[in-house]
Amino acid sequence: MKDCIFCKIIKKEIPSNIIYESDDLVAFPDINPSADIHLLIVPKEHIGGIGEITQNHALLLAEVYRIINKLVQENNLRDQFYRVVVNGGKAQHVPHLHFHLLGGNIKKMV
Ligand code: AMP
Ligand code: ZN
Repeated sequence: MKDCIFCKIIKKEIPSNIIYESDDLVAFPDINPSADIHLLIVPKEHIGGIGEITQNHALLLAEVYRIINKLVQENNLRDQFYRVVVNGGKAQHVPHLHFHLLGGNIKKMV
């Protein structure tokens, strides 16, 4: 979608440090981290937010959590403190569905 910052990252039109990419998802560090580890897991499809999720996204959502778990393990968070956050409504600033993985010392609310 035009003018969507995460679509631009996915299309490599603006730089980011993509740490995981598949046909369906990308993951990259949050530019303004709220925790020791703060990664964003972003479906490539432009889904505006929770309100635009349909049954057709069931497998995609399972894949999101499979990759989150992979990132949890790679960052040695499995037995540490971690949290997955999806913001919505006025708490959501980028209108492209994304999942925050926060780990270690969490400094502030995302
Ligand atoms: P939310 O408030 O849930 O929509 O979160 C949006 C997140 O995207 C914020 O934590 C921002 O710091 C992050 N963000 C915005 N622009 C970028 C960018 N270019 N690269 C990485 N993270 C970004
Ligand atoms: Zn988008």
